Amino acid sequence: MNHLIVRSFLLLITSALVAFAIVRNKDTTHAANDSLEPRSETKLPVTEANPLLAKWEGPYGGVPPFDQVQIPLFKPALEAAMTEQLAEVDRIAKNTAAPTFDNTIVALERAGGTFDRVTTLYGVWGATMNGPEFQVVQREMAPKLAAFGDQITQNEPLFKRIEAVYNSPEKAKLNAEQKRLVWVYFTNFVRSGARLAPEAKARLSQINQELAGLYTKFSQNVLAEENNQFLLIKSEEELAGLPQSLRDAAAAAAETKKQPGAWVIMNTRSAIDPFLTYSDRRDLREKAWRMFVNRGDNGDEHDNNATITQILQLRAERAKLLGYKTHAHWRLENAMAKTPERAMELMEAVWKPAVARVHEEVRDMQVLADKEGAKITIEPWDYRYYMEKVRKAKYDLDQNEVKPYLQLEKLREGIFWVAGELFNFNFTPLTNVPVAHPDIRVWEVTDKTTKRHIGLWYFDPYARAGKRSGAWMNAYRSQERINGEITTIVSNNANFIKGKPGEPLLISWDDATTMFHEFGHALHGLNSNVTYPTLSGTAVARDYVEFPSQLMEHWLSTPEVLQRFALHYQSGKPIPQDLVDRIKRSATFNQGFATVEYLSAALVDMKLHLAGDRKIDPDAFEKETLAELGMPKEIVMRHRTPQFLHVFGSDGYSAGYYSYLWSDVLTADAFGAFVEGKGPYDKTVAERLRKNIFSVGNTVDPAEGYRAFRGRDPKVDALMKKRGFSPS
Ligand SMILES: [Zn+2]
Repeated sequence: MNHLIVRSFLLLITSALVAFAIVRNKDTTHAANDSLEPRSETKLPVTEANPLLAKWEGPYGGVPPFDQVQIPLFKPALEAAMTEQLAEVDRIAKNTAAPTFDNTIVALERAGGTFDRVTTLYGVWGATMNGPEFQVVQREMAPKLAAFGDQITQNEPLFKRIEAVYNSPEKAKLNAEQKRLVWVYFTNFVRSGARLAPEAKARLSQINQELAGLYTKFSQNVLAEENNQFLLIKSEEELAGLPQSLRDAAAAAAETKKQPGAWVIMNTRSAIDPFLTYSDRRDLREKAWRMFVNRGDNGDEHDNNATITQILQLRAERAKLLGYKTHAHWRLENAMAKTPERAMELMEAVWKPAVARVHEEVRDMQVLADKEGAKITIEPWDYRYYMEKVRKAKYDLDQNEVKPYLQLEKLREGIFWVAGELFNFNFTPLTNVPVAHPDIRVWEVTDKTTKRHIGLWYFDPYARAGKRSGAWMNAYRSQERINGEITTIVSNNANFIKGKPGEPLLISWDDATTMFHEFGHALHGLNSNVTYPTLSGTAVARDYVEFPSQLMEHWLSTPEVLQRFALHYQSGKPIPQDLVDRIKRSATFNQGFATVEYLSAALVDMKLHLAGDRKIDPDAFEKETLAELGMPKEIVMRHRTPQFLHVFGSDGYSAGYYSYLWSDVLTADAFGAFVEGKGPYDKTVAERLRKNIFSVGNTVDPAEGYRAFRGRDPKVDALMKKRGFSPS
């Protein structure tokens, strides 16, 4: 179970985590894979009738008007929405009445509704319907959106009012959620430079705009390398070792690249990883591997090295301006880890046992290769290939043996069933709701007992041109109740290759795990039960947000799910116990590779952002850092620096890639509560989980929420055991 491999590639698109709370703009800087023909060349007039600005109409408290979107509408809609929010904020700042929680904090919570709605649509288009026409808008709007955020956080009279509420003795009369909201506003403003002198503020805003432009450039460069480069295969013997499904996918890819009669391996992870796993052709594996790991590092017009140097320098300058030692110190202050040192401590504790495991894994592979008479030394392009062979030899487990039992739609039913058992949710398909693409389906979520409406769940499972690779969750609307009962709208997105019409789509065990993971984020949003939108659902600390999602992965392998929903696509029979046992026995297999591949990237990310303002040559820094760490030569970072979108596509996971490991400590430890209880479906433990973790959003400190659930602080032991490591 290479959970980590899958997980570390997943991004949770959420609002308040990325930018400042009231500027709830979506993380849209990750561009998608393929070009999309411009949808419309019509230049639409800028009128107040722009449908993207309208209140969401229809059932369920209104739904996003995906059927109204045209790309030329985005720019005028974003500009009008920004103007509107700035006017709202200005009214709050200039209020002559003394500052109170209601006339300042709650007023800010109520502001920006139009901007939220427009940026939701803009974010969905950026991630799932992207193309050249949209990219022009992105390049133009990225710096403008950054400047807009600064205009709010740098509004002096506004900050004075927030500060007054924060320091007022009246604060003692507020409830716990309200106190936390005040604290969040105050600290976010301070962290964004509200206390700086005017010249420093101006420089800060300049830096933020420059960074926004560089993030867009970085992302579009990676996208270009993934689009423009591919491995062309012209003869059947070059396909040696590839299963039929991969051959079909390569043939389909060749069509889109106008190479009829040939096969194409695209330069994306979902195409490269399986090729490296199955191709018998070592020469082609090396070629594919080099192409993939050198994205953004080819010394051409799409080379990202100079951009990274600029980003790092601007980030270092910004951190200093804001009064922090480094960018990492600034970023981690409001994370659960609090300091880079604590994050480093965890990473270093896991690093050594993981590296030791890699050496064992390589030994096993080398023995097998020698036995075959391959006459090779294991290189990075051999790892996945021999790993599969060792899996078969050691655990008698072939991934292709599991796949016929993993039907996408059956597993979706399984996920619904788990949500019913743990949270009493019921899912009903809807057809009366507009969607961005005909492949997207929508369900209404209700309470099984009371029939109360809880929210909507959108499911966008298939890959298509213009859609970002990977899998993610997105919240279209946050649950809150300052404007009456507002219910949430969430989505899960993936990139499965659509099957033939009428045939069930089969997915791998890793992909099934990813589905449960993303659904975990969705459940985190759907369970939200808070008053204020800024604190709602998944708007929690970056290193805490992967905890609920990683936790849900555990329910896939429960016998209840496997017996009911892992059914053979032809016979309808459940997956045999013997096969389940073999999957379980191999649970810690390859954890050395998965952990080192991920952790090396997380360590380089952190060290880059602890390095301060010295001028950094990314390639050289990466090389030196890995040498110091003792990186096994058979493995490459999961994301090399020139293509590390988590870190350089936005501020998002910068100095924050460690978050997946941090969250996994909580995950492994939390599942122990079920094991120690009556098992994964223990209603009492599930209720404690809902009450203290899934429903509270950011209304409580995450460490306190965890303690309330578990009765103690998390311990790292369960994580080490889950990965099969002995502590160093
Ligand atoms: Zn996630």
